[in-house]
Amino acid sequence: EDEYVGFASLPEQVHRKAVKKGFNFTLMVVGESGLGKSTLINSLFLTDIYKDRQIPSVEDRMTKTVEIEKRQIDIEERGVRLRLTVVDTPGYSDALNTQDCCKAVENFVDEQFAQYFKDESGVNRRNIQDSRVHCCLYFISPCGHGLKQVDVEFMKQLHEKVNIVPIIAKADTLTAAEVCKLKNRVLQEIDEHGIKIYEFPDCDSDEDEDFKQQDKELKLAIPFSVIGSNTVLEVNGKKIRGRLYPWGIVEVDNPKHCDFLKLRQMLISTHMQDLKDVTQDVHYENYRAQHISEENK
Ligand code: GDP
Ligand code: MG
Repeated sequence: EDEYVGFASLPEQVHRKAVKKGFNFTLMVVGESGLGKSTLINSLFLTDIYKDRQIPSVEDRMTKTVEIEKRQIDIEERGVRLRLTVVDTPGYSDALNTQDCCKAVENFVDEQFAQYFKDESGVNRRNIQDSRVHCCLYFISPCGHGLKQVDVEFMKQLHEKVNIVPIIAKADTLTAAEVCKLKNRVLQEIDEHGIKIYEFPDCDSDEDEDFKQQDKELKLAIPFSVIGSNTVLEVNGKKIRGRLYPWGIVEVDNPKHCDFLKLRQMLISTHMQDLKDVTQDVHYENYRAQHISEENK
């Protein structure tokens, strides 16, 4: 008989406990107007998460986002419950409303911290609804040749408060070589300006080779290039999400066309817990420390 003490199931048990309670996760999208933020959210979650749900009409989804908008979805997959909150932000179009938009986004993030702080010191600590923003996808224009001044300011305003994951928007408008060049440029500028983006943790050394390889590819893909689409096309009898052009079709789910799948994989499965941990241990702790020292002034 196998000697089996049962340690192996320990992580599983911890997992089980979390599973029973249910996960919650809040994702925010930020960036210039028209970069495809609302579309990407639909692409990210409609296929899986909204599957059995009433899909909002196209007009509904296409209306311009004019204020910070929260959408909550409960998903259950293989016994795992996830309450996902997506925060869609207005997006800015000129220098004037950039300031306002940035302030509004920052306030939103702070308000969630404040609420959590209040709940945590309250009587009913056990059932706190965690509405803190765990990840912020920051959309970068494919048209510029790198970061714009507003991008730098915006990210710097937020980087101590939330995990920023940079995204190259509308990757279908660039060639593969252009995407590569833009990615390098953006990374270099992020570094030069001292912008702190979410740091992907080192892979555990006891993970298997496949996982390590996958992790390596994930890190190399940052900033993730994405293509969003609400159109389902039929190609050789297969339904795919993509964009139709006179010269062919770009596929959202095709790893050769963009990093959409990598992004989804990391958000939904591989890095969700780490994004939550960093939010709690770094960003929330910052907020707490500041808040307490201000109270004592
Ligand atoms: P938002 O203002 O950032 O929320 O942008 P929207 O999601 O409203 O998209 C603005 C326009 O860009 C719409 O016409 C979309 O169909 C289009 N769009 C969205 N994603 C993509 C993409 O990946 N590639 C291209 N070429 N167009 C896109
Ligand atoms: Mg929008």
